[in-house]
Amino acid sequence: MIAVADTYYEATAEPGEQHPALAGRRTADVCIIGGGFTGLGAALALREKGFVTILLEKSRIASGASGRNGGQIHTGLRRDQVYLERKFGRSDAWKLWEIGQAAIAKIDDNLARYGIEADRRHGMIYADHRARIVRDTHHYVEHLKAHYAYDKAEKLERRGVRALIGSSDYHGGMVDHGGGHLHPLKYARGLARAAVSLGAELFENTRVTRIEPGTKARVVTENGEVEADFVIVAGDSLMQGLVTEADARILPIVSTIGVTAPLGERLKDYLTTEMAVADSRFVVNYFRPTPDGRLLFGGGESYSSTSVPDPGRLVRTALKTVFPGLRDTPFDHAWSGIVGITPTRLPLVRRLHPNILLAAGYSGQGVALAPFAGSVLAEAVSGTLERFDVLEKLPVPPFPGGTALRHPLMMLAMLWYALRDRL
Ligand SMILES: Cc1cc2nc3c(=O)[nH]c(=O)nc-3n(C[C@H](O)[C@H](O)[C@H](O)COP(=O)(O)OP(=O)(O)OC[C@H]3O[C@@H](n4cnc5c(N)ncnc54)[C@H](O)[C@@H]3O)c2cc1C
Repeated sequence: MIAVADTYYEATAEPGEQHPALAGRRTADVCIIGGGFTGLGAALALREKGFVTILLEKSRIASGASGRNGGQIHTGLRRDQVYLERKFGRSDAWKLWEIGQAAIAKIDDNLARYGIEADRRHGMIYADHRARIVRDTHHYVEHLKAHYAYDKAEKLERRGVRALIGSSDYHGGMVDHGGGHLHPLKYARGLARAAVSLGAELFENTRVTRIEPGTKARVVTENGEVEADFVIVAGDSLMQGLVTEADARILPIVSTIGVTAPLGERLKDYLTTEMAVADSRFVVNYFRPTPDGRLLFGGGESYSSTSVPDPGRLVRTALKTVFPGLRDTPFDHAWSGIVGITPTRLPLVRRLHPNILLAAGYSGQGVALAPFAGSVLAEAVSGTLERFDVLEKLPVPPFPGGTALRHPLMMLAMLWYALRDRL
């Protein structure tokens, strides 16, 4: 049975604590807009530094991408180090690499320090769906070793990948033992609990309608307002209409996930490892086993609208390509979520006004990066700008066509790339 609105994560996490809606006027050192990974990472880091922190979430905590994603932890940014070196030079590429490494270390630090149980597992497999790509992937493993002293990446030949993944779709690839996966909703709720335990105030069902810049910025909601020395904008692709710079640069794209019933011994026919997998398609397929023996499979994107009436159908089309043997296996859960992507696939980190900071647009790679970017914004609030400056420099131009035409134009571009996946 498909419970379309119900995610596997909701069904397997402790219920989140309820937080009141904001009513009336409040003051704070920092007001955060958005209760996903970015906002929660910022709230926690700000409380660790002692700032009076209020977070405003228009719906429930982690109801956006952070509570409904694939849970995969990737090393680095969406763009690989070779691209970053070519575009920005060795020195900045190295700084970005360090940020990526610190982002993963931060996950494990948060889990340990705040006693968050989030089904953390280690290892990411990158599986090549075309034999011609494998050589490049193997060069990349060597590149990481030679230039970043990274010894956690390992080449996979055809036989190696097929020993791990029961699919004739894959021809080789790499394992990154530095990546991994977790239960994103448990992690997000754990971050929220930790932030509250340190004194952060969280408000739910509180939509921000306007930000008024000033030495004391005003964050206006439907039934109240917060006056703050700093504002952190962390609404990613779900805050359309609030910040023009973000609207022009972040495109909301729907991605779908399905979770099978427990497969028992059959799971080993498809995956013989606890590691997560992402493949080399432009419309990427990503999957992993769950601790209770299901296959969680993400794939299939929609560019035409932000809601998908039947996410199970969309993701099944992708599933059938990789695992034809599962074509008729029912999903117990299927849902969609909105990924915020930027034209360069680089995150959008900006100082919008002297005291208004934004981080968003992780382009499908925010499980590690988003909470870390939140903590980088907290560093910037406290006057430490080293990492903020590195991220703020990343070029993220507006999408062509403005907010009206970007969707049709992007749709055409995406469909072209999706078609190339099949060639
Ligand atoms: C289906 C799917 C699969 C994905 N898989 C992966 C993966 O495997 N690995 C990976 O690294 N990344 C993945 N991602 C991306 C990752 O989930 C995101 O990059 C990350 O969660 C972004 O966090 P965020 O806090 O910036 O945004 P969100 O989690 O979207 O949080 C933004 C919050 O702001 C709130 N908000 C918006 N506007 C307002 C307003 N006006 N007032 C108050 N609140 C507001 C929203 O309600 C929302 O809760 C996936 C995303 C999706 C959708």
